[in-house]
Amino acid sequence: MSANSLPVRKASPSGEDAAAVWHNLEVNKALDLLDSNADSGLTSQEVEVRSQKYGLNELEEHGGRSNWEILLDQFKNIMLLMLIGVALISGFLDFLAWQGGTLKPGEVPFKDTVAIMAIVILNGILGYVQETRAEQALAALKKLASPLVRVLRNGKLLEVAAKELVPGDVMLLEAGVQIAADGRLIEQSNLQVRESALTGEAEAVNKQATIVLPEETDLGDRINLVFQGTEVVQGRAKVLVAHTGMKTELGKIAAMLQSVESEPTPLQQRMTQLGNVLVTGSLILVAIVVVGGVIQARGFGNIQELLEVSLSMAVAVVPEGLPAVITVTLALGTQRMVRQHALIRKLPAVETLGSVTTICSDKTGTLTQNKMVVQSVYTNNKSFRVIGEGYNPTGDFLSNEQKVAVDEYPEISALVVACAICNDSVLQKEQGEWAILGDPTEGALLTLAGKAGIEKDQWSSKLPRVAEFPFSSERKRMSVIAQVEAVASGTSPIADVDPVIAGFLQSENYLMFTKGSPELTLARCTQIHLGDRSVPLTEAQRSQILAENDIMASKGLRVLGFAYKPLSEIPPAGSEETSEDDLVWLGLVGMLDAPRPEVRAAVQECREAGIRPVMITGDHQLTARAIATDLGIAEKDARVLTGQELQRMSDQELEEQVDLVSVYARVSPEHKLRIVQALQRRGRFVAMTGDGVNDAPALKQADIGIAMGITGTDVSKEASDMVLLDDNFATIVAATKEGRVVYTNIRRFIKYILGSNIGEVLTIAAAPLIGLGGVPLTPLQILWMNLVTDGLPALALAVEPPEPDVMKRPPFSPRESIFARGLGAYLIRLGIVFAIISIALMAWAYNHTHAAGYQGDRDAWKTMVFTTLCIAQMGHAIAIRSNNQLTIEMNPFSNLFVLGAVVVTTILQLMLVYVPPLREFFGTHWLSLEELGVCIGFSALLFVWVELEKLFFRFMGKRTV
Ligand code: ATP
Repeated sequence: MSANSLPVRKASPSGEDAAAVWHNLEVNKALDLLDSNADSGLTSQEVEVRSQKYGLNELEEHGGRSNWEILLDQFKNIMLLMLIGVALISGFLDFLAWQGGTLKPGEVPFKDTVAIMAIVILNGILGYVQETRAEQALAALKKLASPLVRVLRNGKLLEVAAKELVPGDVMLLEAGVQIAADGRLIEQSNLQVRESALTGEAEAVNKQATIVLPEETDLGDRINLVFQGTEVVQGRAKVLVAHTGMKTELGKIAAMLQSVESEPTPLQQRMTQLGNVLVTGSLILVAIVVVGGVIQARGFGNIQELLEVSLSMAVAVVPEGLPAVITVTLALGTQRMVRQHALIRKLPAVETLGSVTTICSDKTGTLTQNKMVVQSVYTNNKSFRVIGEGYNPTGDFLSNEQKVAVDEYPEISALVVACAICNDSVLQKEQGEWAILGDPTEGALLTLAGKAGIEKDQWSSKLPRVAEFPFSSERKRMSVIAQVEAVASGTSPIADVDPVIAGFLQSENYLMFTKGSPELTLARCTQIHLGDRSVPLTEAQRSQILAENDIMASKGLRVLGFAYKPLSEIPPAGSEETSEDDLVWLGLVGMLDAPRPEVRAAVQECREAGIRPVMITGDHQLTARAIATDLGIAEKDARVLTGQELQRMSDQELEEQVDLVSVYARVSPEHKLRIVQALQRRGRFVAMTGDGVNDAPALKQADIGIAMGITGTDVSKEASDMVLLDDNFATIVAATKEGRVVYTNIRRFIKYILGSNIGEVLTIAAAPLIGLGGVPLTPLQILWMNLVTDGLPALALAVEPPEPDVMKRPPFSPRESIFARGLGAYLIRLGIVFAIISIALMAWAYNHTHAAGYQGDRDAWKTMVFTTLCIAQMGHAIAIRSNNQLTIEMNPFSNLFVLGAVVVTTILQLMLVYVPPLREFFGTHWLSLEELGVCIGFSALLFVWVELEKLFFRFMGKRTV
């Protein structure tokens, strides 16, 4: 059968495609049809051929807004609508003047209209490009964290990117996996899949490999198939990939897929509100100026001039460059964060990260290295120390510091057989190094077994797995049921079976091995395995084992307990509560998972930054406390709240404790949710890490949900705002710092841009009121200022490096208004000072150009106002780089972009005055050196003001905004 053939489809009246019959096939038939092998998978050559034929396993995403809709949305912004209105009115006025022949000599009609419309269109296109690019960038970032799939190829277990799957691949599924392709189950154990992505049904579906279903079975009832995009809630399975990419069920309904969401960030929402405030404010101001002007002139004689003023004010109030600067800042923030290994999945996280007050972190892998090494074994009342290198399965067992011969201690062999059999990991050599595929806890157990001469592969054939009760963070244990080959096949009497197995068996055909949290496992034991036999477990032995567990845990070791049970038959699925009872205790294994070296400093940094780190772990309380103390998360005698205690507490009681407790142990995922909620009720802004499938609700509830990039399940990643590519706690702290920097810089350029707008509006409004003839600035000049002379330095301010104390102050509330902490007052103060300076200059310049004997152009005063407004902003840009440090105290080269922007903008501004075609186009006038000098002198006053403000606040002992 050719590799590419699909099952022959029986004629189907509905005209469905061939996929419809996979559920109607026996497993072997399906394997034959796809020319695959359940034990070895495809060969590399086959994979190559099939990837050519079927292409990448990717979905073309549709849905969401169309490009046209995105473009149209840009013009729904109230500020742009006002600009369009201004353009139309201005065009109408020009039309009247043109018709009436009242155009000034050399004046080009409709110039302002065209310029404003050009800016409106440019703004729209810019917004469109940025929005679509932001979506693409987020989509690309998400792909970075795209899941790996475990497959069998060439008889080996590999991890490949989901997009590399081809039909015929044999993939392995376990709890937490988001299924990457459609397939036919080959075998499964307790497999439960949530198919809501496909069927809308929230309840998980129990799957079965052996069943063959009638052809007409509905999609939701095809329990022998699994589908792309659905999630494994429990259990494990081996699956034959039948369809990939757009051929999957999900691919077929791809139009229903949500496109990557681009949510407005809180800041973007605040900007919309700001737009409304600005537009309303400016319309009110325009009304005042017009009514005031009419009353002053006792008639409509100067209505033309008043209209011009109004139009200029309307243009001046809109910060045309602001949306672009904000988008660029957030995009740069995500880029910087990804360089630090923090991948942002939801844009608001960039700015809100800086507000985090509490970081709730898992222990294993986030605070610790997740490189487990077994150090102690306790069995049959004896302790052994284990030595060796990493995952290398060679090393020694020591008793009283003396090397022991493992053969002389059957209890060690019995324990390590349990380690090897009750285990889902693979220990293999990769490029000469021993490495683990799977859970490092289990990897360490395989290494331990190897040191005692027990190899998983060899023992798996003596004791093949026939069933299992999988691990979950709630149960904190797992069991594997194995068949004893020799007994089952009847080839060998019990006495001939391996002595270790014979010791376990007590003449039964099956053995169940259980491992898990020592207290819980021991509580389910009634007997104990001593050497080569089992005897009833006494209370004294129980206490002794628990005491030994405490000794290991308080050294920071992660301790697992082991037990077994002979069975006469395979226990039915779902019977774990009753089957995992009456166990025979085997022993304890303690492994070291050293703290990550960089975490201590990160914890310290958190404390200085007013952020409280909290450890939430499934591990034992003493292990948790030992590691928390070592890392500086808690004091030596700090209270550790256990899951059991938490369970007994009411929400109210928990709320009273959450601010006091920094270590939670033996918790289950549902406790995490309660902890986040309690913290949030106390007004905390919580970042929470999670990796398991059941952590998703807590991640969603947290203000910043953080998933693990390496060990995290697909489901947890899907629920998160941010993914840690290196699983490292220190990365959360680094990202928090970036968040603070982004937010500070956003506030910084808002101060910069809006201060200038207020100054401009007041100056324009003042001109007719103080009796100067005409408007000092044309709409075109205002657009130039708002876009170029404000825009470029604002962009440069967006990349301002962090101030030295960024992590030495408490976090700011994420709910604070953008104008909080004095920013609003600063804007008003600065706007007024800016206006006073410009109005004083305007008055001086007007008198100067209207003085008797003045040689130049009498309208040059307008250009002096224009130039002063621009150059003053350059000084403002330089001064505003720091809120507290004086400019002379700062390194002028630490943000070269600001220096560059100031130089380039000043040159451009001078070109507008001194290059004739530009002068003509922008309607400026030539200035003498003296006039330019006066402009620069007045401009410098704004810089001086901002510096004086800093000094004043320093003197008053207050931080400025
Ligand atoms: P954290 O929540 O900080 O990552 P954790 O890894 O210890 O801590 P879980 O993975 O939920 O949390 O494990 C909880 C407990 O379950 C462990 O302390 C251990 O006793 C037990 N356990 C962990 N892994 C296994 C496993 N593979 N098989 C059996 N029991 C396990």
